[in-house]
Amino acid sequence: MEVGIHSAMPTYSGGLGVLSGDTIKAAADVELPFVAVTLAHRAGYFRQHLDAEGRQNEEPASWNPAEHMGLVEERVTVEVEGRAVVVCAWRLDVVGVTGHVVPVYFLDTELEENSAEDRRITDHLYGGDQRDRLRQEIVLGIGGVKMLRAVGLEGLDTFHMNEGHSALLGLALLEERTSSGGVEEVAQGLDAVRAACVFTTHTPVPAGHDVFSIGLFEEVLGPTRTALLKEIDVVEDGAINMTRLALRLSRYCNGVAMRHAQVSGEMFPDYHIHPITNGVHAATWTGAPMQGVFDEYLPAWREDPYLLRHAVDIPLERIRRAQREAKEALLAEVEQRTGKALDPDRLTLGFARRAAPYKRADLLMRDPERLRAMARASGGLQVLYSGKAHPRNNEGKEMIRRVIEVAGLLEGDLGFAYLEDYDMHLGGLLTAGVDVWLNNPVKPLEASGTSGMKAALNGVPCLSVLDGWWIEGHVEGVTGWAIGTGWDQPSVTEEEVASLLDQLEGVVLPLYYHDPEGWARVMRSSIALNGSHFHARRMMHEYQARAYRTA
Ligand SMILES: *Cc1c(COP(=O)(O)O)cnc(C)c1O
Repeated sequence: MEVGIHSAMPTYSGGLGVLSGDTIKAAADVELPFVAVTLAHRAGYFRQHLDAEGRQNEEPASWNPAEHMGLVEERVTVEVEGRAVVVCAWRLDVVGVTGHVVPVYFLDTELEENSAEDRRITDHLYGGDQRDRLRQEIVLGIGGVKMLRAVGLEGLDTFHMNEGHSALLGLALLEERTSSGGVEEVAQGLDAVRAACVFTTHTPVPAGHDVFSIGLFEEVLGPTRTALLKEIDVVEDGAINMTRLALRLSRYCNGVAMRHAQVSGEMFPDYHIHPITNGVHAATWTGAPMQGVFDEYLPAWREDPYLLRHAVDIPLERIRRAQREAKEALLAEVEQRTGKALDPDRLTLGFARRAAPYKRADLLMRDPERLRAMARASGGLQVLYSGKAHPRNNEGKEMIRRVIEVAGLLEGDLGFAYLEDYDMHLGGLLTAGVDVWLNNPVKPLEASGTSGMKAALNGVPCLSVLDGWWIEGHVEGVTGWAIGTGWDQPSVTEEEVASLLDQLEGVVLPLYYHDPEGWARVMRSSIALNGSHFHARRMMHEYQARAYRTA
């Protein structure tokens, strides 16, 4: 449903979309015969503005696909609520490190042939209501398969459904194989579809799993298709869960980290859910100064990011200087955007991601007087925030407001800025330019998280709750620091607030201010241990070896 290639195309809302963009880039790098399909989202996700009190306002983030891509000639038609909706596609060529091309098709219904209402189907990412979402999923899943056939891609052997939003692609494949609708034919068709599909689930948070009532299905997809879904036994309590549909239609299913696979297995006990831990595209997420260091010491790292393991041989001073350069570039951008001049000599924390309630953006701010005291006593503390709340998520909006309110009370003691309109550009600047990357989700809801992996590539250690990828990447005092208890223990908010502040006060601030060489060692081992592993090429190798292999 979302793909983030770069920030000029606002067709993503967060980690899910950025990951799919990184996956596509890695597929191009390893020269896989691969093609991707998403929606054009002409009005983007949204542009965020925060007022003086920290209240979020939203505006459309309209953009023009024609400035970035060519329109392909082929058109296809999908049936939505009994109407024929015409779908066109924009093609973006993502070019890998050796020149291999992976095309990405952005499906679009903004065509004169369509009614005003249908022209808006592909406008807003995650906008509208359940009906709007189902219409989009028809265009994505059913329209996507038809478009791949129309542009002449007949020999596809594996369809990878990336999150349940795309599950109707399995229905489209089933329809190709079941013209008569006979019971035996459907059973055989189901086997054939399962042999062709793999599925990745990306979150244990319920809002990430679409559930549509059978009534809505009948209205939007029509009775024939709904009958086919009933026949393959995916209706539960009068509704269809798109994750369950995708699981039912796939030969291989995975979660996006070890812990997430376990948790998903508990949610869907009828299925074996394998782990493939996410990775980020190293060349995209390494900031320019650190790229220069890698180019000098590990020249083939772009083609082979496993080489970053040998970062142990890079002089500490080179890593420190490159990170300092990235920090100054970040603080210059912060000053330009907010008028706030932060101090490059002070320890700077970064926290940026979607303002979803389980991510607890305000956790650091829960004990303001203790935070004030340690900022005063230690040599100084600054924190940079960014992130959007979904327009209908009032709890997320309230979290942003609270962060800004508490930071206001600490003005003069705590350096602070909340950067509006988080996007990939800001994500790159922040993960490269802060000193410590903070993450404190409620366990076990962070399926993977990827921003800490971007930080690791830039020599920025994490201070994080043991959840998602950090369970696998955390070595205390070597790649960063843990907040709270072990990963198999549930989150207890007050304990985690205290642990976060204990770690800052007792370990992180003293190391930063009193042991610069020890600090630089942590930076370097973040690159060597985590940058060398949590990259998208390693992830793609695992998908090739486990998921994409055909019998
Ligand atoms: C990497 C990235 C994310 C993912 O951040 P998490 O901390 O993993 O949730 C979200 N948004 C943008 C713009 C990113 O670049």
